[in-house]
Amino acid sequence: MDDVIIVGAGPAGANTALGLTKLGRSVTVIDERIHLGDKVCTGIIGSECVRKYPPGPGMTFGQPTSANVTTANGKTYHFSTEYPQASVIDRVQYVAQFSKDAEALGAKYFLGERVVSIEVTVSCVVVSTSNRKLRGKALVIASGFGTSLLSQVGLQKGNEYMVGSQVEVEVNDMDSVHVYLDSLKTPGFFSWITPTVSNKALVGVIANKTSKSKLDTSLKYLKSVGSINRVCGSSRSWGIPLKPIEQTYTNRVLVVGDSAGQIKPITGGGILYSLVCGDIAASVLDSCLEKEDLSENALSAYQVLWKKKIGKEIQSSYSIRKFVEKIPNKIQSQLVKVAKTHTVIEGLIANKGMFDKHSLIFSGMFSNPAISWVFRKNFRNSIENNDVQETLKGISLGEANEGNELVHQ
Ligand SMILES: Cc1cc2nc3c(=O)[nH]c(=O)nc-3n(C[C@H](O)[C@H](O)[C@H](O)COP(=O)(O)OP(=O)(O)OC[C@H]3O[C@@H](n4cnc5c(N)ncnc54)[C@H](O)[C@@H]3O)c2cc1C
Repeated sequence: MDDVIIVGAGPAGANTALGLTKLGRSVTVIDERIHLGDKVCTGIIGSECVRKYPPGPGMTFGQPTSANVTTANGKTYHFSTEYPQASVIDRVQYVAQFSKDAEALGAKYFLGERVVSIEVTVSCVVVSTSNRKLRGKALVIASGFGTSLLSQVGLQKGNEYMVGSQVEVEVNDMDSVHVYLDSLKTPGFFSWITPTVSNKALVGVIANKTSKSKLDTSLKYLKSVGSINRVCGSSRSWGIPLKPIEQTYTNRVLVVGDSAGQIKPITGGGILYSLVCGDIAASVLDSCLEKEDLSENALSAYQVLWKKKIGKEIQSSYSIRKFVEKIPNKIQSQLVKVAKTHTVIEGLIANKGMFDKHSLIFSGMFSNPAISWVFRKNFRNSIENNDVQETLKGISLGEANEGNELVHQ
């Protein structure tokens, strides 16, 4: 019987497997995909993720030092920083490498097999696919967004989510990421064009509930203004949790990554948090296996630790997201203009290297005198005061971490 069975070899499951094998634990990973890592994703990771989990040679498409933001009034603002704050990576290769490294250290992989049932007994966990039954002392559920496996171990799924749709396109020369905030021409929470290799880029949309039709509208608009030449292939859509689930552990089981809702609620980025929580899961499982105590109580240390690292940031960013969603187009355009004129965003990112700490960028923006002037001028008429108070309360929770890197080296 293996020490740990892991369902899912995305960033969360693959890095948990790697962490456990490094600690000398026996691990079996099951994934229904044959091509690991090939999930719809843009592959943008912040510089902190690059430092802590460096992409291998040839896995980085680009390291943009600038972004264009088009607001609802059709104006485009150019933001740039001296050094790259993020990398656009080959997500498939990057994620698959964690599994290759884990395999090299002894992890066993069963690919192309879907886990259909899980039974937690007093002495082990029994995991079944259509081909086999496997037994482990513990189980990690890392099967991504919307997994049906949580209910089989008595845990609750999250019910707040967004949907992302994306497609590859051909573009003319492009080296900056372009973000669109116009809810009519490019509907959704936001849309993007991210350059990848030579004349290729990814166009995507994140929206509440449905995003495919919004992506089609955006593509039509982007083609009409010459931002893209043609669409290559079909679009793909997938859900993104907005909030962590209540409980990410139970007897013999931990939940990691999108399945646990460990994601940045503003952008929907989840690679870094999946990797970080994979490391935490591996170390908690190792010490619980050592003590031969895989009870719910012993495994609760996992939730304490991951919440300590990213819980406040997720909570603050969630409040900000809910607030930003309600900002009318007109005010949003003014805010971006003021942020550009007063170099607010560039200053915050450059000075504090905060690409991965969205709450600090937003709280820094909100406390900037020029930005708060826009809020003061517009808020009373446009947005309920309660929302403002709730958001500021939420953001202040995240401020306790200011100055700290999310992941301590
Ligand atoms: C459009 C879009 C763009 C995104 N862009 C970014 C980005 O630029 N940067 C970023 O950081 N994040 C991005 N994300 C989010 C990111 O992709 C996820 O947060 C991340 O992949 C989560 O990793 P995971 O390991 O938890 O889940 P996944 O990567 O979803 O991996 C889960 C794995 O489990 C397997 N699986 C599922 N069910 C079963 C089963 N029953 N049996 C066996 N195997 C199973 C799946 O095949 C899959 O391989 C984006 C998301 C979307 C939708």
